[in-house]
Amino acid sequence: MSVFNTVGCFFNRHEPSRRHVVWDGRAYVGSCKYCGRPIQRHGKQHWRKRTVDEAGLPPAS
Ligand SMILES: [Zn+2]
Repeated sequence: MSVFNTVGCFFNRHEPSRRHVVWDGRAYVGSCKYCGRPIQRHGKQHWRKRTVDEAGLPPAS
């Protein structure tokens, strides 16, 4: 782990552990290889922390 990558995670810019990336029916999801948080792909080379809504759960209303 480098300081640079830790800063990236701090700004919600994560990088997936490639072996653990899976398609959940809506998006590619995985875990950040630096901080270990659940993340979701928002575009090419663009990964953000996964939220409850984006994980496929229905809205509360
Ligand atoms: Zn991270």
